[in-house]
Amino acid sequence: MIIVLLGPPGAGKGTQAARIMESRNLVQLSTGDMLRAAVAAGTDVGNKAKEFMAAGKLVTDEIVIGIIADRIEEDDCRDGFLLDGFPRTIAQAEALGKLLNDKGLKVDAVIEMKVEDESLVDRIAGRYTCADCKRGYHDTYLKPQKAGVCDGCGSTDFTRRADDNRETVTARLATYHTQTAPLLPFYEAQGVLRTIDGMVGIDDVTIQINNVLSAL
Ligand code: ADP
Ligand code: ADP
Ligand code: ZN
Repeated sequence: MIIVLLGPPGAGKGTQAARIMESRNLVQLSTGDMLRAAVAAGTDVGNKAKEFMAAGKLVTDEIVIGIIADRIEEDDCRDGFLLDGFPRTIAQAEALGKLLNDKGLKVDAVIEMKVEDESLVDRIAGRYTCADCKRGYHDTYLKPQKAGVCDGCGSTDFTRRADDNRETVTARLATYHTQTAPLLPFYEAQGVLRTIDGMVGIDDVTIQINNVLSAL
């Protein structure tokens, strides 16, 4: 099964991807996570991507398509995968279609997580992550059970993304509306678009996604 999670920054893609990954045994492919790892490691790709990410702009199609093309060749992608944050432009969607077509595969569903801009700013401003196991949290909406201690691994070390500040968020939302939103009619025309309400609580979003997946 090949699933795309589509939605603006802060919609909850990563949060839901982690849950689906566990319940459906699909690997999560997050281009954002891969790019951040490349930046941290100081690779060629990382150095090229860094400025774009800091400014809330998209990294070039060439870079991200290259990353995904390599990644889906790996063994753990054999039984399907969940794309989180890719594709983000029509060019990326077309490239993905070609890569899959060459393997006799296709995108089974594109799940649009619909969330209003005001809520997105709030979600992004409060987002933080365990520095060790990468589990995601929120200052208000998703706190660890014991304050300051990660539920997943017990770590007391947390990080916030450099681009999760209010200025960059505005640029990222504008980028979403101009460059990524055109994917909605693109996938609707292919009959694979499923829209869910991302404004509700985390568990209720998971229920909607599971309903979509179960119907496939
Ligand atoms: P994305 O991957 O789409 O950028 P995340 O999954 O990182 O978004 O979620 C952004 C922030 O909002 C995180 O701090 C997360 O805990 C929180 N969050 C995710 N889904 C919801 C929800 N349905 N309601 C409230 N907060 C949420
Ligand atoms: P969010 O879902 O919160 O916007 P991501 O972690 O998916 O964040 O992406 C962070 C940044 O990485 C983006 O703002 C962009 O600069 C870059 N990026 C991630 N995925 C892509 C992509 N598919 N195409 C171009 N740039 C990307
Ligand atoms: Zn942890």
